[in-house]
Amino acid sequence: MLLLAVGDPAAAMEPPAPALVIRIRIPDGGAVDWTVHPAPQLLFRDVLDVISQVLPDATTTAFEYEDEDGDRITVRSDEEMKAMLSYYYTTVMEQQVNGQLVVPLQIYPRACKPPGKRNIHGLKVNTRAGSANNSAAAVPDSLPSNSLKKSSAELKKILANGQINEQDIRYRDILGHGNGGTVYKASHALNGKILAVKVIPLDITLELQKQIMSELEILYKCDSSYIIGFYGAFFVENRISICTEFMDGGSLDVYRKIPEHVLGRIAVAVVKGLTYLWSLKILHRDVKPSNMLVNTRGQVKLCDFGVSTQLVNSIAKTYVGTNAYMEPERISGEQYGIHSDVWSLGISFMELALGRFPYPQIQKNQGSLMPLQLLQCIVDEESPVLPVGEFSEPFVHFITQCMRKQPKERPAPEELMGHLFIVQYNDGNTEVVSMWVCRMLEERRSQQQQGSQ
Ligand code: ATP
Ligand code: MG
Repeated sequence: MLLLAVGDPAAAMEPPAPALVIRIRIPDGGAVDWTVHPAPQLLFRDVLDVISQVLPDATTTAFEYEDEDGDRITVRSDEEMKAMLSYYYTTVMEQQVNGQLVVPLQIYPRACKPPGKRNIHGLKVNTRAGSANNSAAAVPDSLPSNSLKKSSAELKKILANGQINEQDIRYRDILGHGNGGTVYKASHALNGKILAVKVIPLDITLELQKQIMSELEILYKCDSSYIIGFYGAFFVENRISICTEFMDGGSLDVYRKIPEHVLGRIAVAVVKGLTYLWSLKILHRDVKPSNMLVNTRGQVKLCDFGVSTQLVNSIAKTYVGTNAYMEPERISGEQYGIHSDVWSLGISFMELALGRFPYPQIQKNQGSLMPLQLLQCIVDEESPVLPVGEFSEPFVHFITQCMRKQPKERPAPEELMGHLFIVQYNDGNTEVVSMWVCRMLEERRSQQQQGSQ
């Protein structure tokens, strides 16, 4: 057994606040001990967070433990976690009564790919069990996120500052094509970290290339859980490659008709992401379902926002058409502002709720760029409204407010955050989105399998 850091199992039941040692079994046969202190508030998500540090290349959505008969029991939720802990504490009591050594709780991450370069950032996920300063030991709430922050900061340091270049990228699959370019799933040659790389062909001067690179600098400063992580960009010949965090659930445009309780949690993240960008004086300018990414950890992040005017302009010169998510006043050529992003937010969430573009006369078959005359109905007609009865009143009201024809009547950032629809789903529950993404990916996989048979 490989112990990256070993807890002291005997300390696991020391009074007054017993620490819990969880032994994470790795598919290659090794193990990592994680001491949790205090244990009672431990959440399912905390365990997945720690597993994701131990197995950074794998996508883990559940884990298993063994019962007294050696049968594997799957844990996918807080409820199942509670059942596992209660089973474990019963066995601990028995071990103590019999004078035996307390054995750590062994868990087996599920649906993992081989770990590859495990612990690439040298993360120490363990804390010293039973150390003199127990208050410094892992508090479940803070340990995973702090350590992940460190991982992401280190990754940025490795990848950014010109250290990332074409030679370091190993392209794997194509994730999708947009109007501007192609997005690849790739890995970094030095540390095996999975990335998304967007490659956009651009025939522009060296001067413009430099301008774009300096405009993209602000992305290094973006630090929000609701904004896609940026690792660096580089030009090779006439194309720019932009390297970002990979989101294993992909973009929302492929999900179709998302149930309201899931969509509510997604909306909270999107509103928080937009509010963050606006606080940096960045307008997104391209809010639409394909620029909202999700992952199996239940995170929702915005991508492709217009930090580089020069990049936006250069792409626009190559691709002709008007964005169907654009607000009416912009289609008519008026100035862009926060209210424009708010319209796009409204129309996007209406589409995600209905499972179709809200204007039936607009057929969005390929991408979101359309001939201007097809979008004229957005300018001329009353905004569509979500069917009352099928959706909750706060949701219908939220969309109606965002899609007011008059820009000034749309909610300001603080009004969005304070809207009942957002407030009621702002409960920090990432599990709802996580479970839904996992289920959808599973369905997609089995459909693909059936299709190929
Ligand atoms: P447009 O070019 O108009 O913005 P788009 O958003 O559909 O259209 P791209 O931004 O090129 O096009 O993205 C293509 C697809 O790649 C997306 O729809 C999404 O499914 C996938 N994708 C993009 N970025 C990531 C990422 N970071 N992680 C995972 N998948 C991604
Ligand atoms: Mg995009």
